[in-house]
Amino acid sequence: MTALHPGEMREAAIDVGAISANVRHLRRLTGVEVLAVVKADGYGHGAARSALAALDGGATRLGVADVTEALALRRAGIDAPLVAWLHAPGETFAEAAARGIEIGVSSADQLLAAASAALADRPTAIHVKVETGLGRNGVPPAEWGHVFAEAARWERLGRVRVVGIFSHLSNTSEADDRAAVRRFDEALLAAAAQGLAPRLRHLAASHAAIALPEARFDAVRIGIAMYGLSPFADRTSAELGLRPAMSLRAAVAAVRRVPAGQGVSYGYLHRTDSDTTLALIPLGYADGIPRNASAGGAVRIGGRVFPVAGRIAMDQFVVDVGDHPVAVGDEALLFGDPTLGEPAVETWADAAGTINYEIVTRIGPRVPRRQVTR
Ligand SMILES: *Cc1c(COP(=O)(O)O)cnc(C)c1O
Repeated sequence: MTALHPGEMREAAIDVGAISANVRHLRRLTGVEVLAVVKADGYGHGAARSALAALDGGATRLGVADVTEALALRRAGIDAPLVAWLHAPGETFAEAAARGIEIGVSSADQLLAAASAALADRPTAIHVKVETGLGRNGVPPAEWGHVFAEAARWERLGRVRVVGIFSHLSNTSEADDRAAVRRFDEALLAAAAQGLAPRLRHLAASHAAIALPEARFDAVRIGIAMYGLSPFADRTSAELGLRPAMSLRAAVAAVRRVPAGQGVSYGYLHRTDSDTTLALIPLGYADGIPRNASAGGAVRIGGRVFPVAGRIAMDQFVVDVGDHPVAVGDEALLFGDPTLGEPAVETWADAAGTINYEIVTRIGPRVPRRQVTR
């Protein structure tokens, strides 16, 4: 891995080659189209660069949560098919339709708004989202007949084009996900009964795309796995053939030799038990390093791993490096690719009682992203 830029105190290196390779791998594994999910600034990796890398790896469509995120990708010059599925109350979809953004439609009201937003010469492309057991926002079974009939009517009038029908799984258990697959099949029958024949039926996100072949249909929506992280608690990235794309580094900002009994950071959660050296790492909870990872977080400096000592603060935390020679400016690696001997993001997630998704997604705006290929 290349060194931090001179004068740079912290950075998240984003290996776009890894994103492309992960998408290529998942495309081959699943045998269906890959819709690359780049919401939340590409899970913290940068939405536009992640989108381009995913398209390079064979993704045929992009997905984001909301229209604002979709418009930002269009402004970044990305003109690939792109769908947004979580909308503000009263959203008109006017700008989205004008920019050729596909709309995930979860209600009769949203269907009407999408149809009303159609251009004179171009229907609004929609994906109808159905509720199959997650308890969030799809069209509920009791309304399938009505909403599908309306969608078919708007399609005949040239106001919408039903590109897709989709839902989302809970990943609670294989039995729960299989039950949702059966409900999705019923929704597809109900749509066909109203004359709809959407080209893209999509249900699985990363977890089911890998673990539940019957959930793959025509496309899978891949988020976490394209960033090289595992959606499973009990399977590593490497076991899935994925390469983590983000590595988070900082330059040691200060070192201090201290005697035994020195309290460290707020509240003195840690006191040194002998003469030792403390190294200051300029990343804190403002940068997405969880304060409640104060016990269990660790960094690698010069090939050795050192635990966090004391409370993680807003801007910084301390590691106790003992008698190892550590100097100001040395690189401290918080996480990267475990197959290269680097710490895993899951160490931080476990320490904080959360999942890898949350750690990478919350890396804050003070941390410059640097695009690399390794
Ligand atoms: C975020 C999201 C995904 C991607 O999920 P991963 O588990 O990260 O693959 C897929 N579909 C929907 C509807 C989502 O909101």
